[in-house]
Parts: sequence; C-alpha cells; structure tokens
Amino acid sequence: MSDRITNVPDADIETAATAETTETAATAATTEPPAHTPHPAYDALIIGAGAAGLSTALVLGRARRRVLVVDGGEPRNAPAAQMHGFLSRDGMPPAGFLAVGRAEIARYGVEILTGHVDDIVPRGRLDPHDTGTDPEFAVYLAGGPVLTTRHVVVATGLRDDLPDLPGLRDRWGIDVLHCPYCHGYEVRDRPLGVLATQPHSVEHALLVRQWSPDTVYFAHGTDPSPADRERLAARGIRIEDGEVKRIVADGGRLRGVELADGRVVPRTAVFAGPAFEPHDGLLDAVDCVRNPDGWVAVDPSGRTSVPGVWAAGNAVDPRAQVITAAAHGSAIAAALNHDLVTADVTRAVAEARTASLPPFGPRPVLT
Ligand SMILES: Cc1cc2nc3c(=O)[nH]c(=O)nc-3n(C[C@H](O)[C@H](O)[C@H](O)COP(=O)(O)OP(=O)(O)OC[C@H]3O[C@@H](n4cnc5c(N)ncnc54)[C@H](O)[C@@H]3O)c2cc1C
Repeated sequence: MSDRITNVPDADIETAATAETTETAATAATTEPPAHTPHPAYDALIIGAGAAGLSTALVLGRARRRVLVVDGGEPRNAPAAQMHGFLSRDGMPPAGFLAVGRAEIARYGVEILTGHVDDIVPRGRLDPHDTGTDPEFAVYLAGGPVLTTRHVVVATGLRDDLPDLPGLRDRWGIDVLHCPYCHGYEVRDRPLGVLATQPHSVEHALLVRQWSPDTVYFAHGTDPSPADRERLAARGIRIEDGEVKRIVADGGRLRGVELADGRVVPRTAVFAGPAFEPHDGLLDAVDCVRNPDGWVAVDPSGRTSVPGVWAAGNAVDPRAQVITAAAHGSAIAAALNHDLVTADVTRAVAEARTASLPPFGPRPVLT
C-alpha cells in the first residue's frame, strides 16, 4: 500500500456552489504534502452517505468544519420503492431522501466524493487520556487517493445476507420483506407468509401477525417446539411444515410460496429474516473493541474505543432505522465537534504561550 498523500480529481467531488468553497481542502494543494502532514486536509472524513453519514455531515457542515463524505453508492434500502416511518418523510423514495440530504449538506460546503474507502491508518498520537491531542488518520481510497483527516466517521451500513432460495433475491424489498415496521402497513390484511430462516423466526411471525390475520408460517424444514406451535395457533397463524422450494412470482408480483411437494401457497408478501453482515472492516483496521455480541462497541455519542474514530447507523446497530441512523449521526457530530474545539483550544494556548516568549538574543551579562 502506498504511503503517499494525493489529491482527489476535481471531477469526482461535488461541493457547495458557494464562492467561499471554490478552493477546497481536497483540491487546494497541487503538490504532495510530506508523509506526516501537521494539518490534515479535513476535520472529519465521513465514510458512507446514507442517513447516518449525511446527518453527521449536515451538523458538522453547519459547525463550519471541513468535511468530506466518501460514498460507495449502495444504500441498504435501495431496493424499496418507498421509505416509511420517518416522521415528515413517510412514503418518500429512498433515493429522493438521500438526494435531499446531499443537497442540504452541499449548502454548507461539505464535499461528497463517490468512491470506496479501503483502509484507515492512524497517523497521529492516539492517547485516550489526552483529549487535547488531535488524532490524525490517513484514509485510503480504492484507486489511489489518500486523504488526511483529524477524525473519521464510519457510517457504512450493513449487508443483508439473504436466505438462499430460488426467486427470493429478485423480490427483495418489493414483496419479500424483512421489517414489518417499514412495509407491513402497505400489505396489511393481505395473505402474508413468514419464512423460517433463523432461531427467532417464530417471533417474527408473531410480530407480522399484527398486520394481517391471514399469516402462514413456513417452517421450511424446521420443527417449531410444542410451545411455539401453541402460540402460533393461538394467534391463528397456520403452519406449513414442508420444505420451501422457491418463491413464485409472475407478472411483476409475488404469487406465492412453492413447497417441495409441489403445492403453491398463494401469498401477497413474504417476510424473511436475513443475516446481518455489518460493513465494519474499517473499524477492525484500527482495532476497535467489539461488544460480546460481536458488534463494534460505541458509546451513546457514537465514540468507538479508538480516539478519533466514530461509528453510526447499521454499521454498528442492526436495529437502526433510517430515522435512528440519522439521529446517531447527529449525536456524533456534536460530540466530535466538541473534541475538535477542545483540541483547537489546546493548540491555541500552546501557540499563544510560544508567541509571548521573549525572542532569542544575546545572553544578558551577569554582574
Ligand atoms: C429493503 C429494505 C427496506 C427498508 N425500508 C426501510 C424503511 O421503510 N424505513 C426505515 O426506517 N428503514 C428501512 N430500512 C432500513 C434502512 O435501510 C436502514 O435503517 C438505513 O439504510 C441505515 O442507514 P445507514 O446510513 O446506517 O446505512 P446505509 O443507508 O446502508 O448507507 C451506507 C452507505 O455507506 C456506503 N459504504 C459502505 N462501505 C463503504 C466504503 N468502504 N467506502 C465508501 N462507502 C461505503 C454504502 O455504499 C452506502 O451508501 C430498509 C432496509 C431494507 C433492506
């Protein structure tokens, strides 16, 4: 891996159309700074422009910080036509929501770069007990550019590892769903299915039943316990014990669930729980501590165990909805800016003391 600090091509960067940001931190220098630059290009470099990253960027931009957002362009909810449950934005297309967010952060001079971050390398001192010391990182982008920043925010989301069943992936986010809070209302009172994919799938079915009395639980080769069978039956949830062969769709809509015995159980929508694979490799790269459940540990303000590294949204919390991911991001911005203010004050005091020292001159003659 190269240790060079390079510039980002101008064409890749979207910036605010304001005169004061025409020369940005990423585009200002045309020569390579030294390997250890004392003044990183950015106060905060945010990886991921979903709800979490954009929300962090908005608050930091408004705090007049130099901010770059790098995004790979694969938000988790892209397959869905609508986003629900975000107060004041209910029903908005996910892409439209992100476009509004991008326009808002651009107003404050935040730069957005399309790209993939490959690695984060600490370059400054990382003393967790010294809040007056600025951390510093080199952020490596795929394809070459290396950028420097005081703080890094990892808002990279997660990947839904879908059950391996023919026809299922094609309908994901359309009528094969996971979260009933996101899309249950749109299929209320319709014939619904819940596919057993995980140990807690029975709980999933009991939850989905809240949206429709016609709910079928597809055990798919599993054997629910007598207690679970009793609970499902008590709520009027029929159990299909056979193995599921495939999800059947035609004419652009889901038709039903085909069992191994050849029967097709007509359904309008099927709920199936994926395994969550957080995009947290960058947090491993800087040795962030993990919780016993395996997810990277963050405090309520999004601070990881590594000074200067923050994480928000689905990258560290599979339960985060769009509105809560945005809230995580906002909380990070305030705490991160506070750390920057503390470091700025420490540096200013040191500089003021140095400036007030008498200049070197001839030693006084002692008599
Ligand atoms: C089908 C579906 C429908 C959903 N519907 C809803 C809904 O209606 N309402 C709701 O509240 N929630 C919904 N969700 C959940 C919602 O998607 C998440 O809550 C939300 O996306 C989390 O935001 P985030 O910012 O953490 O991550 P994301 O939105 O996933 O954004 C992460 C971004 O980081 C980028 N990235 C990742 N790694 C890198 C890297 N190394 N370098 C650069 N960029 C990187 C990705 O490309 C992506 O753009 C749905 C989820 C799914 C799967």
